Amino acid sequence: KKNKILISACLLGNKVRFDGKDNLIDNDLIHRLNRQGRLVSVCPEIEGGLPIPRPPAEIQDKFPLRITGINGEDVTPQFLAGAERAIEIAERENCCCALLKSRSPSCGNLEVYDGNFTGTIKAGSGATADELMRNGLPVYNERQLDQFIEFIELLDSSEPELGLRAS
Ligand code: SF4
Repeated sequence: KKNKILISACLLGNKVRFDGKDNLIDNDLIHRLNRQGRLVSVCPEIEGGLPIPRPPAEIQDKFPLRITGINGEDVTPQFLAGAERAIEIAERENCCCALLKSRSPSCGNLEVYDGNFTGTIKAGSGATADELMRNGLPVYNERQLDQFIEFIELLDSSEPELGLRAS
């Protein structure tokens, strides 16, 4: 049985972003994985109870985590709840890895906005990406498609169960 992949819902064209838009990626492998039923779509911010549209949010502090909307509202609990849900779903579906939207305060795996709402990027990861990586799941973003594809091809050629183990 092929391993499943957790994927940011917006990358599949779901209009779940803060501004009601999507981040659809048009790629043959993604289409094929989707046809094979191997993509497990999740939007952590929606899972955490936030609406569409919603004010853009950025990470203010990492330890302890504090995320606010541009309007100053503290949305940390929703982001944490969304991260928890994403973990549960990844475990339930035995996902081998995740392909998440870059730079999101939830989904970003390498970079995030710096908290000043000026479009400035810094090294760091979003609440959900962080939690998944802490649980040992490899996380790629849509700017790392080559690496992601390599990983999937290796996985498919070697087969067994690389998924998260339910604890
Ligand atoms: Fe996309 Fe993740 Fe933001 Fe949801 S939380 S809109 S899946 S980047």
